[in-house]
Amino acid sequence: MANSKEKASGLLKEFKEFALKGNVVDMAVGVIIGAAFGNIVSSLVNDIFTPLIACIFGDMDFSGLKIVLREGAESAVTLNYGNFLQIVINFVIVALCLFAVIKAMNKLKKKEEPKPAEKPRLCPYCKSEIAKDATRCPHCTSVFDPVTATKK
Ligand SMILES: [Zn+2]
Repeated sequence: MANSKEKASGLLKEFKEFALKGNVVDMAVGVIIGAAFGNIVSSLVNDIFTPLIACIFGDMDFSGLKIVLREGAESAVTLNYGNFLQIVINFVIVALCLFAVIKAMNKLKKKEEPKPAEKPRLCPYCKSEIAKDATRCPHCTSVFDPVTATKK
């Protein structure tokens, strides 16, 4: 009895560790946001882009196209290449939309953080990157005055 209880508490502890790991929560948020974002993208494709494309190029519904390989009322075998074509076209449209969205987001991000990355402090002897307030290089172990290393 005691053994199984121990096992159960060990399992519980392991589960707690697993569920409370930071990246599990992050992943859950990512999946949920991703699903919600997927709805936006599919709506953008189905409600905005597909009608526009249909308006410009005519009706692009290929899903009904097929080759009948074997005739038969119930056991007919058909090659539904139209449906496949439709899915490929939808994928291309979704990929293009995502590309446009990501490009726009990157542009926004760049505007938000215009400050360029601070120049890393370099060791005057071996030119390795070192901490800002270091007085000894961790790479070549040279000792230096903190001020001399700030300038090249
Ligand atoms: Zn060095």
